[in-house]
Amino acid sequence: MNDNSILASIITIGDELLIGQTIDTNSAWIATELNKVGIHVKRRVAVGDVWDDIWQTLEEEGEQAPIVLITGGLGPTSDDITKPLLCQFFEGELIVDKQALENVKNIFEKLLNRPLLERNLKQAEVPSTCQVIQNKRGTAPGMWFEKHGTIYISMPGVPHEMKGMMMDYVIPAFKRQFNLVPIQHRTLLTAGIGESFLADLLIQFEENLPSSIKLAYLPNYGMVRLRLSCQNPLVSIEELNNMFANLKELVKDYLVIDEDLSLQETIARILIQQKKTLAIAESCTGGYISHLITAIPGSSAFFKGGIISYANEAKIDTLDVPEDIIAQFGAVSLETVEKMAEGIRLKMKTDFALATSGIMGPGGGTDTKPVGFVCIAFSSEFKTESTTLQFRFDRQRNIELTAAHSLNFLRKKVG
Ligand code: AMP
Ligand code: MG
Repeated sequence: MNDNSILASIITIGDELLIGQTIDTNSAWIATELNKVGIHVKRRVAVGDVWDDIWQTLEEEGEQAPIVLITGGLGPTSDDITKPLLCQFFEGELIVDKQALENVKNIFEKLLNRPLLERNLKQAEVPSTCQVIQNKRGTAPGMWFEKHGTIYISMPGVPHEMKGMMMDYVIPAFKRQFNLVPIQHRTLLTAGIGESFLADLLIQFEENLPSSIKLAYLPNYGMVRLRLSCQNPLVSIEELNNMFANLKELVKDYLVIDEDLSLQETIARILIQQKKTLAIAESCTGGYISHLITAIPGSSAFFKGGIISYANEAKIDTLDVPEDIIAQFGAVSLETVEKMAEGIRLKMKTDFALATSGIMGPGGGTDTKPVGFVCIAFSSEFKTESTTLQFRFDRQRNIELTAAHSLNFLRKKVG
């Protein structure tokens, strides 16, 4: 953030947010979108469906920022009190909005084929003091208020409906109303070096950074993303690009990609460019790596498929791992995982294959193969290579770390 930033505060309303039943994804999404257009989120507050608490939060947040974005509490049930509260807070009276009424009728009669209840009709009521934001994806309209120079915008809690309003109406309106300076980002991904070692490597670089350019360390699963950000219109793109080029040079031994891409997206790009295909045999990761790959649009261009060969019989029957290899070395061994990788490559007729086998915990560890011990292998027509990994976390994190390290192993082999 700098002097050019327009500030915003986000209030999310709902008891379900406070008991942890619903994770507040709305404010993370809103913050990301505001950040893209140069609006800085100063505070995020979650509050229950309690009249006095919401009222107090509206007063407090209105003093913090010229923009207050609110989600939740607009449903048709009695626990949703945001609308009558806003009506009183902004000194209006509830009136029916014709267009919102049309929308509610349309949804019930044409789309849902259900009779309209009195409580649904209430969805079309809005405070007379607001400007209505029509909801193209649901029944509850959004509301735009202004008071003492602060804009308050209330939107439904349903993420899909809120996102529609933000994209179609709110963000374009902010762009018209404020002189926004978008934040420029340059991002790269590193692997194989910890955050604190990177920081040591970049001491000099950070000292020489102009105050308007910020460096952020964003670590995740053994990778660290480095991001340079600048919102000062006086700093030229060229200066930012120069700094980014310096940064790239300093971390070149650990550089995965100089774009804001994930490891799996980087692999996808490499394999598509090379016109090579991939298959994955997963034991301990249970299909998680294949999921990460298939979550990328267009992955069918290179990913042929995977097999979750969890039990020994599955490794033997579906991947042709020799029974005596498993008997002699164990299911979690370099020998077995190499055979798994070769097996799936031949079965799926791919250029490359990846395989994982490990002990994810909490049980199943031994002295020689403790919980978190993992074997991974890569296989191509020319070679099969394997390595061991050792993690010391809970089951879920061990699975996620195995996936990240396996993908990085694959990237190094094909990149
Ligand atoms: P409401 O507008 O309060 O009726 O919210 C409708 C639904 O939206 C809730 O039942 C939640 O499932 C969801 N929701 C509400 N607030 C949030 C939020 N901050 N993040 C994600 N989902 C939410
Ligand atoms: Mg609610």
